[in-house]
Amino acid sequence: MKLVFATNNLNKLKEVQGLIPKHIQLLSLQDIGCTEEVPETQSTIEGNAIQKAEYIKTHYGYDCFADDTGLEVEALNNEPGVYSARYAGEQRDSNDNMELLLKNLENKHNRKAQFKTVIALHLNNKLETFTGVCLGEITTTKHGKQGFGYDPIFKAKGYKKTFAEISLDEKNKIGHRGKAVKQLLEHLNKL
Ligand code: IMP
Repeated sequence: MKLVFATNNLNKLKEVQGLIPKHIQLLSLQDIGCTEEVPETQSTIEGNAIQKAEYIKTHYGYDCFADDTGLEVEALNNEPGVYSARYAGEQRDSNDNMELLLKNLENKHNRKAQFKTVIALHLNNKLETFTGVCLGEITTTKHGKQGFGYDPIFKAKGYKKTFAEISLDEKNKIGHRGKAVKQLLEHLNKL
C-alpha cells in the first residue's frame, strides 16, 4: 500500500519512515511530483491538516496524511494557534515570533500554553484525525539551543527545562507531535 506524507520537512519524513509498518510504502511530496505549495488556508489547526490531506487525494489520487501544529496560549485567547509559523509576520522567523509572544505576555500572570498537533489521514475514502497535545507554560526568557520554533520559551508541565534544553528523544516521548504520530501508527498497524 502506498501512502503520501504531505510534508516538505525532511526531518519529519525520516522520523515517520522508520516507524511505519513494512507493508506501507511511504511517499514524499517530491516522490509524487508535487512541487507547488500545498494550500493551508483554514482558520483552525485541524482544518489545515484536513485541507492538506484532501488536496493530495483530490489532485494526485493518493491516500495521504498531513499534519499541522500550533502553540495555543491561554491568556492570549489561544493565539498564535494556527498562525504560529507567521505570528510576527510573513518572514516566518522563529526569533521574531518568540520576541512578540514574550512581549504580548509581559505582565501576564497566567502563562499556561499547549502545543497541539493534528494529523489528518485520508485512507480508503475515509478521513480520520489524530490529535496530540502537550501542556506547559511560556517562560519569561529564552533558554536552550536545541529544537526549533518556540522550543526555547516552552516548558512542558512538570519539567524545569525548556524543549530547547532537552534531547529530541525526550521531546518526542512527551511532545505533541510524538503523541499524534503514535496514534496514527497504532491505527495503521491495525489495518
Ligand atoms: P507546523 O505545522 O509543524 O509547520 O508548525 C507550525 C509552526 O508551529 C512552526 O513554524 C513553529 O513555529 C511552531 N512549532 C511546531 N512544532 C513545534 C515544536 O515542536 N516546537 C516549537 N515550535 C513548534
